[in-house]
Amino acid sequence: MSIQVALAGNPNCGKTTLFNGLTGATQYVGNWPGVTVEKKEGKYKEDKDIKITDLPGIYSLSPYTLEEVVSREFLLNGNVDVVLNIIDGSNLERNLFLTTQILELGIPTVVAINMLDVIEKRKDSINYKKLSKELGCPVLPISALKNTGIKELMAEVKKVANTQSLPKNIYAGKVLNALNTIEASLPSSIEASRRFFYAIKLFERDDKIEASIKSKAEASVIETVEKSMDDDSESIITDARYTYITSVIKDCYKKGSKEVITTSDKIDRFVTNRVLALPIFALVMWFVYYISVTTVGTIVTDWTNDVLFGEIIPPAVDRFLDAIQCADWLHGLIVDGIIGGVGAVIGFVPQMLVLFFFLAILEDCGYMARVAFIMDRIFRKFGLSGKSFIPMLIGTGCGVPAVMASRTIESDRDRKMTIMTTTFIPCGAKMPIIGLIAGAIFHGASWVAPSAYFVGMAAVIVSGIMLKKTKLFAGDPAPFVMEMPAYHMPRVVNVLRSMWERGSSFIKKAGTIILLSTIVLWFLQEFGWEKGAFGMVDDIDHSILSSIGQTFAWIFSPLGWGDWKAAVASVTGLIAKENVVATFGQLYGFAEVAEEGNEFWGQLSASFTPLAAYSFMIFNLLCAPCFAAMGAIKREMNNTKWFWIAIGYQCGFAYICSLIVYQLGSLFNGGSFGFGTIVGFILLIVLIYLLVRPSKESDTAEVEFAVK
Ligand code: GDP
Ligand code: MG
Repeated sequence: MSIQVALAGNPNCGKTTLFNGLTGATQYVGNWPGVTVEKKEGKYKEDKDIKITDLPGIYSLSPYTLEEVVSREFLLNGNVDVVLNIIDGSNLERNLFLTTQILELGIPTVVAINMLDVIEKRKDSINYKKLSKELGCPVLPISALKNTGIKELMAEVKKVANTQSLPKNIYAGKVLNALNTIEASLPSSIEASRRFFYAIKLFERDDKIEASIKSKAEASVIETVEKSMDDDSESIITDARYTYITSVIKDCYKKGSKEVITTSDKIDRFVTNRVLALPIFALVMWFVYYISVTTVGTIVTDWTNDVLFGEIIPPAVDRFLDAIQCADWLHGLIVDGIIGGVGAVIGFVPQMLVLFFFLAILEDCGYMARVAFIMDRIFRKFGLSGKSFIPMLIGTGCGVPAVMASRTIESDRDRKMTIMTTTFIPCGAKMPIIGLIAGAIFHGASWVAPSAYFVGMAAVIVSGIMLKKTKLFAGDPAPFVMEMPAYHMPRVVNVLRSMWERGSSFIKKAGTIILLSTIVLWFLQEFGWEKGAFGMVDDIDHSILSSIGQTFAWIFSPLGWGDWKAAVASVTGLIAKENVVATFGQLYGFAEVAEEGNEFWGQLSASFTPLAAYSFMIFNLLCAPCFAAMGAIKREMNNTKWFWIAIGYQCGFAYICSLIVYQLGSLFNGGSFGFGTIVGFILLIVLIYLLVRPSKESDTAEVEFAVK
């Protein structure tokens, strides 16, 4: 008979470490709260009948955050036989809050007090027997890290799998009485074993349950109870929980004489210091960036691009294809299409791995959690969380890992907002576009590149402020509590695993999409109607790509660049942003172009006014990112509707910004006042209105800072 075990506990209590130990899995363990967002499943390696699910870390079962909802739903509907509640033994009091809620579910529960090694080091003493009696369920000490007590724990889990116990005795006095009153008034249709739980949830004002048991009787019961206690039900319950927890702690726990974690506090006094925090952070980031992007990163990227995918692979494949007398078109597809396209993307991988390596170290040692805290105050002002900073930082390199990094943001709202706006930051692949416009149109003016970053950042800020006020992102701001894990030396396994997990999923996801799209693009570009017949074309003007381009080029006329070549370049930019320059090169008849495409600067500046060129640049910087990044957005949003909202918003926002810049810019450049100008003005006014209109909700989300 199989047993379904759910691992539940606070963030950072060691769930994933235990899960990996039990199942032999190699899930990513992070010293960073909120690393596990999806639930993960596995089997106990010593007994395959025991199925284990690692739930996201949560502080309570209230439905405030995505993690809480995922965990709650799973515990309630997932046919869980045993809840294995893991408690960070060095943080008993806070961890027990969730325990009280889990026990109320009426599902057999085993409590594992983790971090036994820390407890022993601190010389704390916990009376497990007494605690077990108080909680009404088995309590066992373990160390997930040192692998102590695990066998005993699992034996106990097996034992309780089939016992049903309702720990009604956990609350003393008036709260229990109040709950009993409510329970008595519940409709008899509710299963007996769930009644007590429903009573509590009803008392705590759970919307879903309230809707499912709608009767005036209950509402009046609650009212009576609240009146007699002179407080609202939620605080009565919370208060009762803490009163209970305090009494349990007093009975079962003795703080040791030794204070151990002070090293962490000492470092924090320095690192999160009001004055020093930002300079230290800037220094750390500069160093990471310097190594991974400027020096080592560039060397490895140049090597993969120029040597591996330039001098080694293509000639070798060429020789091989010649040897087997491969058809010309297939040869072209493989070498120019697939190796060229996929190679351009794979070229970024080594650089990304170096960056991921450093980020993994910062994350594992505990610094990243502090960064989020330091940045939160600033980012919260425009609707983002401090944790949005990391994705944006990574976004200057590549949007794919940036979008993936948003996973560490617990709040659903903040995460979605971050996913939607991160790719506004110019990534490495957009640099050639900026270089092209700056070089060909603005004679290499030094303000163009910084202005592109400024446009990107402004787009993030404006979007944040604007979106925060819309219905999509409305709702009570979830209070977000962030736990500062103790610093420790980064562990090699963790760092490598984190680096590999991010890197490999990039290769896999990006590789498949890029591969497919390069094949399609190559086909569209190489084939068409020429001399009355369909086949491979000599002149790209006859290709399918050009026919397609000509049908939709008009869309971009209001932005100043309705030319089909520019339209096609923007579309191929969706495959990879580097394609924009390469496509221009091909469309203007240069097969080989350098990164900035100096060869056709002349032709380009003849077909673009400076304003149109700038509008073209803005559009390409802000519109939907490349397919690889879109794939990441789809994956991280995990919801088709939200994916389209994000892509639609990005394209719409890019279009509007470019239109305003081009139309109003033309007017101030001595152009004439026309219909487009009016539209430009209206859009600008709408944009300003959306920015300054009063917010419907008062954003009172405050950060709480809990040091472990
Ligand atoms: P989760 O957020 O609950 O999944 O926690 P993780 O498994 O990611 O662990 C959080 C941190 O606690 C990691 O740095 C672990 O190495 C550390 N950790 C887990 N179990 C123990 C333990 O028994 N003793 C000590 N000292 N550290 C532990
Ligand atoms: Mg975890």
